[in-house]
Parts: sequence; C-alpha cells; structure tokens
Amino acid sequence: MARRHACGDCAPYGHHYGVCKARRGNRKPRGLTPRRFTCEACRRGDFKNCDRTLVTGLDFDGGYAEYLTAPREALAAVPDELDAVDAALLLCAGVTTFNGLRNSDGRPGDLVAVQGIGGLGHLGIQYAHRAGFETVALSRGSDKREAAHELGADHYIDTEAEDPAEALQDLGGADVILTTVPSSEAIASVVGGLGDNGDLIAVGTPGDPVEVNIQELIGSRSSVSGWASGTAIDSQETLEFSALRDVTPDIETFDLEDVGEAYERMMSNEVRFRAVLVP
Ligand SMILES: [Zn+2]
Repeated sequence: MARRHACGDCAPYGHHYGVCKARRGNRKPRGLTPRRFTCEACRRGDFKNCDRTLVTGLDFDGGYAEYLTAPREALAAVPDELDAVDAALLLCAGVTTFNGLRNSDGRPGDLVAVQGIGGLGHLGIQYAHRAGFETVALSRGSDKREAAHELGADHYIDTEAEDPAEALQDLGGADVILTTVPSSEAIASVVGGLGDNGDLIAVGTPGDPVEVNIQELIGSRSSVSGWASGTAIDSQETLEFSALRDVTPDIETFDLEDVGEAYERMMSNEVRFRAVLVP
C-alpha cells in the first residue's frame, strides 16, 4: 500500500514492504501497468506490449486517494533527492519522453527536435539537452523561444514564421523528431525535416490520421513511429536520470479537496503544464 496517492511512502507493513526495503530509499510511486507475465509478449521479455496491461485510474482505482494498493511488479523506487510532487509528473510525461528518446537511434551530438512545448515537450527538451543531443525546440509563435532556450534547446523554430521541415533541413536534417503535439497537421508538417535514416517518434495522440508522403520516407530511409511510456524499471530509471541531471517539471499543485478546480483547469487547458494533487 502506498501513501500520498500515486507517488509516495510505502506504508510500513504494506504488501510491498520487502521490495521497498530492498531498494534505495523507501518511497515508491504508483502501480502503473501491472502485467500477467504469461502472454506471448511477456514471455519474450517485451513487457510493454503485454496483452493484459492494466492502467491505474483506468482499469483499477488509484491516484485520487490518500492510499492505494499497487501490484509489486508495477512499482518503482523514488530517489530520496526527488520531490514526490515532481516525481508524479515524471512518471507519466517524463518516462514517455525520456524512454522514447533513449530507445531511439539518436546518439550524443545528433540533431534531435522536440515539437511542442507543453507537459511532454518541456520535459523532452530537458532530456534531449541533458542526454547530449543538439536540441531543437519547435513551437508556434515566439512566446516560448526564451523558455525553450532556458530548458536547454540549442535552436528554436517558430513554426508560424518559417516552414519547420525546411528549417530542420537547414540545420542538417533531424536524426530524431519527438513530436508531442496532438495535431495531425502539425505532425505532418515536420516529417520532411527528417534527415537520412531519421525517425519521427509520436507520443501525442492526434484524433485524425497523419498524412505522410511515403516517397519522402523511402528516399531518405526514414520512418514515422509511435512510443508509449514504459515499464516500472523504465519509470525508475527516468526518476534516477531526472535527479542526476536536475530535470525539473513545471507543475501546479492542488489540495486533494480542490480536485474539482484542478480538473477544470486541466480540461480548459489553463494548467501549466500539469496539475498534481497533494494530500
Ligand atoms: Zn503479458
């Protein structure tokens, strides 16, 4: 049983105490994606593609409470130096962007573009910079230019002022584009910015299909792919890297009793960049 809802202290005599004590520190976050370990994907060690993946808050209760029970295999230890409130966001937007980048073919020094500077993107830029990539931030307008550079971007492309694909080609072509925007048009507009053998990795989910010129992909042997978060050990390594390299999420906190207000701010897109409930 974990206290402080989705990310927090292990109750002293909870089900997972033994596991807890075996790890550094004893804080551990939510059970995100417990698995059954018997399907074909699990038997191959590909736990992320388990056909019985369950998600906290969707498939079983958790998060909106002071205590939750979580399956042992879905827990990740939180480094002592990391604040529980920060860790909460790193366990969703953090692991998605960090794990997406580290599983790409990008190597230190490669040109890595992050499209969108929101909940996912502001972390993606930090991870790309801290992982040693030449980092490009893409966003509409110039409002976020300064913030992008502060997060670690080496270049900023205002997609309203210039064609993002051409701008990326001017920089040599992107080895990796991590796109976080939920707009199929915006995603399509950057595919032409991929360099040879480049990969566009989508972690945002647009409602509509993305129109892609396959000829362009064939010519440069590039690809368009998707990525979803990770396993418990991916979450733990995200937290460890974030603590090591001082990756800081931008969040607003709300008391648990103000959950209604937090929900409204989130749904009206006013929250910067994520709402975290504290007990
Ligand atoms: Zn499975």
